[in-house]
This record gives sequence, C-alpha cells and structure tokens, in this order.
Amino acid sequence: MGSIEPKKPFEKIIIAGAGPAGLLLALLLSQHNIPSIVLESWDRLDERLRATQYGIPATRVFRKAGLLDDFRAASITSFPSICWRRVSDHQRLTGIDLSVVKDDPDRMTILPLNEIIKIIYRHCIEKGNGLVEIKFNHKVVGAAQDANSAWVDVEAGAEGEVKEQKRYTADYVVGCDGATSTVRKTLFGRDWPGQTFDFRLLVQNVWYDGFEKHGWDGGNYMVDPDYWGLIAKRGKGGLWRVTYGDKLTGLSDEEYLIRRNTAFKKLLPGHPGPGQYKITQTDQFRIHNRCVEKMKVGRILLAADAAHVCNPFGGYGCMTGVLDAGGLADCLIGLYEGKADESILDLYADIRREKFMKFVDMRSMKNMNRIMNTDPDTVLETDPFLQLLKGLEGDDVATKAFLLKHSSIEYDFTQHYRQT
Ligand SMILES: Cc1cc2nc3c(=O)[nH]c(=O)nc-3n(C[C@H](O)[C@H](O)[C@H](O)COP(=O)(O)OP(=O)(O)OC[C@H]3O[C@@H](n4cnc5c(N)ncnc54)[C@H](O)[C@@H]3O)c2cc1C
Repeated sequence: MGSIEPKKPFEKIIIAGAGPAGLLLALLLSQHNIPSIVLESWDRLDERLRATQYGIPATRVFRKAGLLDDFRAASITSFPSICWRRVSDHQRLTGIDLSVVKDDPDRMTILPLNEIIKIIYRHCIEKGNGLVEIKFNHKVVGAAQDANSAWVDVEAGAEGEVKEQKRYTADYVVGCDGATSTVRKTLFGRDWPGQTFDFRLLVQNVWYDGFEKHGWDGGNYMVDPDYWGLIAKRGKGGLWRVTYGDKLTGLSDEEYLIRRNTAFKKLLPGHPGPGQYKITQTDQFRIHNRCVEKMKVGRILLAADAAHVCNPFGGYGCMTGVLDAGGLADCLIGLYEGKADESILDLYADIRREKFMKFVDMRSMKNMNRIMNTDPDTVLETDPFLQLLKGLEGDDVATKAFLLKHSSIEYDFTQHYRQT
C-alpha cells in the first residue's frame, strides 16, 4: 500500500501582475511544485523603456531561478565602465571600471526590462512544470479575504469587448501589480506615504555613432541642475538609452518632446542636431519615492513596485523588486514544504519593508540628488561617493572588492527554516 502524502499547508497562490516580480515569483514557486495563477490586465507583456541594469543581488536571484544564462546571452558582451560627467563641457569627473568584474559570475545583469520579462515569461511556460497559469486581459479590480482564503475580483476581456466579471480564490494573493497597484489601493486606499517629484522623466532608445566616436563610457551620469540624467549603452549593435529629467511642469507630452532637441544638443557628445541621431522608442514617466506602511495584511501580500517605488538612478527599483520576489518565494516554499510556519510571511513583510526604508529609499535619493541638485563644478570635492570612486581609480583589486561586497539590501529567509 502506497503512503499517503501529508496535506500541504496551502494549495495555490494568486499573483496580480505579469511584470518582472510577478513572473519571477511564479517561476520560483513552480520549481518547488507550487501552482500559481498570474493575472495581467494588459493583452501583452510590458514593453515600456524602464529598467536596464540589475545589481549583483538581483543577479544572484536570476541565477537561482535558472534565468541567468539566457539573460547573459541576450545582453551586451563588452562590460562597461560608468562615469559621472559635467554637462556644460562633458568633462568626465570620475568613474568606475566594471570590466574588473567582467568574468565574475555574480556581476551586474544588463538587459532592457522588456527582454528580461520575455525571457522570464518563456521560462514560466516552458520550464514551469505546467504550474504557472498566466491570464492576459485579466484586470484585478479588487481583493479581499476571510480566515481561510483570499480572492481577487477581475474584469476579463480584451479592450473594446464586453467584460466578464470573475472571481479567483486561493490561499494567498500577492500584489505584484506595479506602482499603480489595485491590490495596494484595496488594502490602503489611494494614500501612499512618500513623495512624487515635480519633473518629467523622458526615456528614449537612440542610435547615434557619436557615443562611440567620442569614446564615451558605457554608462554616463550627467550632472547639471537643468539637464541631468543617464546615457548608457544598452543593446547589442550600438543601441543606447538616453534618460533625462525636464523640470518644467504641466506641459503636454508633445510639448516635452519639442523641448527634447535642446536637451539632446546639451547632453549628447558632439552636440548633435535632430538629423544626426535616430530615436526609435520613447516613454515619459512621473517619478516617486514611496513605501506602504505594511507589505502584508492577513492573506494578502505586496511585493516590488506595488509595495515601494523609487527613482531609477542607481538601478534600485527592479533590483529591490527581484529581492522581494526571491525572498517571498523562499518564505512560501518554506511554508509549503513544512520547513517554516506562517509567521515567516510576517518576517518577509517586515524585513523587506525595512530594507527599502533603511537603504533603498535613501541611496536612490542620494543618487538622484548627486546629478540634479549639486554644483557640477564642485561635486567631485563635495560628494563622498564620488570621492570614494576617485580614490579607487587605477586600483583594480580595491575596485573589485568594492563592486563585489555584500549588499545590505539582501536577506536570506531560509535561515528561518526549521533545523531538521
Ligand atoms: C525610466 C525607468 C528606468 C528604470 N531603470 C531601472 C534600472 O535600471 N534598474 C532597476 O532595478 N529598476 C529600474 N527601474 C524600476 C523598474 O522598472 C521597476 O521597479 C520594475 O519594473 C517593477 O517591477 P514590478 O513587477 O513590481 O512592476 P511592473 O514592472 O510595473 O509590472 C506590473 C505588472 O502588473 C500589471 N498590472 C497593473 N495593474 C494591474 C491590475 N489591476 N490587474 C492585473 N495586472 C495589473 C501591469 O500591466 C504590469 O504588467 C526603472 C524605472 C523607470 C521608470
């Protein structure tokens, strides 16, 4: 007679949002035989111009999920240096040579987010053991719970079609539905502690041979009170990403685009006019640094941008979201496999929120203030971080140690598993 499997502590997870956090969580859970349903409001995966780089802590989660080889194969091959430049004369102030870690398996991952999402999606379908069900055109409009289960209400159907009202029930609901999260609003209303910045961020994919001709670094933080941003090589074959802030408020999207020619002339090497470069895609964003009071209420949890958002300078947003997804997966797996009790989910919520509040919020603000709110002529002397980088120049051993040091935003939840 075969032995009867003990009943598992839960059966299924509902995940709102098929962004990087939602898909990664679903994939990691499937690798431990935990089924999930991912509900995505759009009819497709997100293609907007957002994240492009993910620091070492995120790389480690990508490897654990079995994604890293595919990310590396799709990524640029030459590993860049990053520098800080004054906009007025394009003077390189200081920088850091990332090529010293080019052979380190943990090095930063560089790949536009739309490609990251596509690869995670493909892994969910092909390698998710048939346990990841992804439903497009399924917009979560509310979430609720009782003592034994949690559920979401959904409007299902493509744009222009009559919508079908559906309810999906599971043991837990995880809101990975991004900065405008409906799951978060259901729990806490529209209030969200933190700040929204006055500027508009313009992001574009650009083909321009001047970057290479002028020998610019792979990543260039542009320091200036009026024209500040990040210019970075991001795609194979010479595709660059130009991101800058426009401080004027209240303009229409078209009006911001008209002002772009002037910004590009100031920012790009060689000061080119519009006929000299080709912009293939552009997006505009409002930017916030905000965090919820709680990342868990009963059986409903929040992860990544649904729980906290930050400005993109320094690449903290998605990296932190990936750490949330990886951490929450470890907690749910521990619970499912009987290695932890439900209190591990409270630990997830408290610790991941603390990591954001204590480190991510502050560091991302410093990164942004360094390029937009300092005097470009004196920032090298006044900014401790740039001073530190200046001190590392030419010292490969110290640079490598700096780049690979443990990050305080990581946390290993498996240390709370029961000792057997
Ligand atoms: C210009 C820019 C540059 C950035 N650069 C970097 C970078 O280099 N490195 C970095 O680490 N981070 C960066 N970020 C931040 C990063 O893009 C985000 O942190 C990351 O995308 C968050 O992932 P997520 O899965 O939480 O949310 P999202 O990527 O926003 O995904 C949420 C998903 O949920 C879906 N959804 C929304 N509402 C609902 C609903 N009601 N029902 C069902 N589905 C819903 C959305 O359609 C979407 O597919 C950048 C951001 C910006 C704006």
